[in-house]
Amino acid sequence: MKRHGIALVISAPSGAGKTTLISRLREEFPHFGYSVSCTTRTPRAGECDGKDYHFWTRARFEDQRAAGYFAEWAEVHGNLYGTPLEPLRRMLEQGQDVLFDIDVQGARQLKESLREAVFLFILPPSLSELEKRLHGRGLDSEETIARRLRNACTELREAPWYDYLIVNDDVDAAYARLRAAYVAATLRPLCRPELVRALEQGRLEEER
Ligand code: 5GP
Repeated sequence: MKRHGIALVISAPSGAGKTTLISRLREEFPHFGYSVSCTTRTPRAGECDGKDYHFWTRARFEDQRAAGYFAEWAEVHGNLYGTPLEPLRRMLEQGQDVLFDIDVQGARQLKESLREAVFLFILPPSLSELEKRLHGRGLDSEETIARRLRNACTELREAPWYDYLIVNDDVDAAYARLRAAYVAATLRPLCRPELVRALEQGRLEEER
């Protein structure tokens, strides 16, 4: 019997190894769906309306936001971005799992709007290790690294309200933890409404 989908919401400070872990999860579980966000920014070359984003005017975005259209939204570099709630609900109802790679502010809003969401926070083993990794990537200037470290300290304060804390001290061990948290999340009664209904009537679903 089909289960209800889950929204797997993953946050981490920059440099914690989130991108690598998410790629591994998508590789092992290619069935994860995508939520197409709405944005007020203009499309870049090659971007397709309805596939990469829904490109909206600011007026339309603000009207829809006021009407409660978004599960979460944020202003990034002067443009508005938001996750439409109803298409997401439909995917989840159809048993489709959806993965969100989203910052702590967006995650906090999803916690309010989406009870079937599961929240995972990926932690670096220490701040000194995070600093070492940010230097090691060779991507950022000293100034950017200092800013990322300051942001990391702010983000880490939010980690305690997440459902699962995954320390990325070793990438294989961290992936095993992430995978275990995802699999455990799919076993919650919330994901099996038909089985729950049957159990409440004193039977197993097969015994109808
Ligand atoms: P870009 O314009 O480069 O595609 O995205 C800019 C930023 O907006 C990225 O940091 C991206 O994560 C964020 N973003 C994209 N879609 C959403 C969304 O639906 N909600 C939130 N909160 N941020 C988003």
